[in-house]
Amino acid sequence: MAIEKTLVLIKPDGFKRGLTGLVIDRLDQAGLELVAAKMVSVTEALAKEHYRELADKPFFPNLIRYIRGEFHSLAHQQVLALVYQGEGAIALTRKVAGATNPEQADPHSIRGSFGRVTTQGQFENVLHASGNAADAEREVKLWFKPEEIIGGAPAVAPNEGLSGRSPGANGKR
Ligand code: UDP
Ligand code: MG
Repeated sequence: MAIEKTLVLIKPDGFKRGLTGLVIDRLDQAGLELVAAKMVSVTEALAKEHYRELADKPFFPNLIRYIRGEFHSLAHQQVLALVYQGEGAIALTRKVAGATNPEQADPHSIRGSFGRVTTQGQFENVLHASGNAADAEREVKLWFKPEEIIGGAPAVAPNEGLSGRSPGANGKR
């Protein structure tokens, strides 16, 4: 099986309910390697681009409000964005996450244990996990620059690392 990268987002319900550590722990236990992480304030444009394939679904407007924290009183629209890497990482992450509808998800999965269907019919399911190879590639690029990913483009060129950097104007390092 190929080494893959996949995008995980701790959605506002997961963040607000203190499930960030649990999600990271479960993905660790599954043998996945964390190669990128950052808090992101989700703009409307980013939310709509991320979920662009669902734009014609009736739940789309509320999905955009959900991922931007509007249902969970998040002042800064923040989510934790993560990239995991490993053999078959996309399917493995989906398995740990569980099915989209928390009521149909394996009760031992994260969504099956902690997700809920709201009275409005919205699935609040704790985390996002890329659905397939094409989505994973597009989503990792959408949320992260190459230099933010371990093993991606180096932050500084190898010959410009600390030891190789030329002294500043005052001659000191
Ligand atoms: N969603 C929903 N109702 C639905 C289908 C999806 O509220 O009938 C939400 C849910 O939060 C889901 C997200 O929209 O995680 C994206 O849907 P998708 O079908 O891509 O599911 P996922 O890939 O997240 O399992
Ligand atoms: Mg999906």
